Amino acid sequence: MPKRTDLLVIGAGPYAYSAAACARANGIETHIVGHSMAFWQEQMPAEMFLRSGPDWHLDADGNYTFEAYFADREMRPEDFDPIPISVFIDYAEWFRQHMSLEVDERLVTDLTKPNGAFVATMDDGSTITAEKVVAVPGASYFANFPRWYTNVPSPLRSHTSELVSFENLAAARVVIIGGRQSAYEWAALLCDHGAEQVHVVHRHPTPQFAKVSWAFVNPYIDQTLAQRGWWRRLPASEQQRISGEFWRVGRLTLEPWLVPRLATKVVTSHPDCTVVDVTPEHQAVRLQLSDLSTLTADHVIFACGYKTDLSRIPYLHSVSHQVSTTDGFPDLTEGFETSLAGLHVIGFASTRDFGPFYGFTKGCPSSARIAVDELMRSAA
Ligand SMILES: Cc1cc2nc3c(=O)[nH]c(=O)nc-3n(C[C@H](O)[C@H](O)[C@H](O)COP(=O)(O)OP(=O)(O)OC[C@H]3O[C@@H](n4cnc5c(N)ncnc54)[C@H](O)[C@@H]3O)c2cc1C
Repeated sequence: MPKRTDLLVIGAGPYAYSAAACARANGIETHIVGHSMAFWQEQMPAEMFLRSGPDWHLDADGNYTFEAYFADREMRPEDFDPIPISVFIDYAEWFRQHMSLEVDERLVTDLTKPNGAFVATMDDGSTITAEKVVAVPGASYFANFPRWYTNVPSPLRSHTSELVSFENLAAARVVIIGGRQSAYEWAALLCDHGAEQVHVVHRHPTPQFAKVSWAFVNPYIDQTLAQRGWWRRLPASEQQRISGEFWRVGRLTLEPWLVPRLATKVVTSHPDCTVVDVTPEHQAVRLQLSDLSTLTADHVIFACGYKTDLSRIPYLHSVSHQVSTTDGFPDLTEGFETSLAGLHVIGFASTRDFGPFYGFTKGCPSSARIAVDELMRSAA
């Protein structure tokens, strides 16, 4: 294992693979640390399907795309609609191999910048010194919960990122808090595994189930590449309009292939509803809803998404006083650099400064391109 590198990429998910491949292709000595595709393998259910299609990929140069993978494997994309998560994980591994990316499977426990260079302490106690760092933490540190969630005893509650196998909930009464794709996909998976009752409780109306096109995102990514700082320079009203479009298509409209799996005798939606009281009972919990109904649950699943809060990333604690943030997000330059020179952050935590599309793999190639251009510019 190297003791020093020009660029250390912390993370081994899709955004990290894209950035590392792009950096290497541009002659930057790069080392990647993290557990390969860990979020996809351990914090998303193996039986889930993607919302995105074969056109979203990882290669900033546009060669080793998801579509190229399908062709190479002699698979027809139309036979994989929706795409099982296992196919994307296999694509990421195919991409990693074709780009000759080696992943150092250790984790970083601490990052400092004592004398102009970064020093990453690894979980085996050794260190790696790096001139520059791209941190790619994903969303797993940012699981979001309603304020009252600790009123549910901890053995009886999970965030969706913690509950990815469902065998133990066969015959269980489950309440899901949240009403977006993951809430209803977890409900479908619970039905597949024989849950007795699934109640889905959310503040908004029952979502629509309809086929959506994500093509509206393409011009926004093109604009981001064409004009540095495009998103941050948009008037607030335009940012709100685009975020609203993203919310409508991505959040309020759910995939129609879920519908036949939501057994009507098992799943009940509680739209326009909140939880107003929680009472633990013997090995269960009673939830009172704002519509005056009462539910008894053997398990409560929080499908409440993710909320960026950089202070929750343990390996950044030592440098946190040097990394300025707003509302938990790092304040990033137009090249994804934080206020700590040489430390870049890409992926979910960049969505405030780059737009909501950077929470999905659609943003991988463009963020890799922009971050690597910035790394080369500052090295010149
Ligand atoms: C339910 C669900 C469904 C989704 N569906 C889609 C979809 O259909 N299409 C789509 O494009 N996106 C989808 N997404 C979003 C997708 O998961 C993210 O866009 C993507 O995972 C972000 O990639 P990333 O590389 O930023 O982070 P991640 O994939 O989260 O990777 C984070 C990496 O950081 C590493 N790491 C963490 N801590 C350390 C440490 N201390 N040291 C070193 N490494 C560390 C981990 O090991 C991991 O390798 C979905 C997300 C969820 C939750």
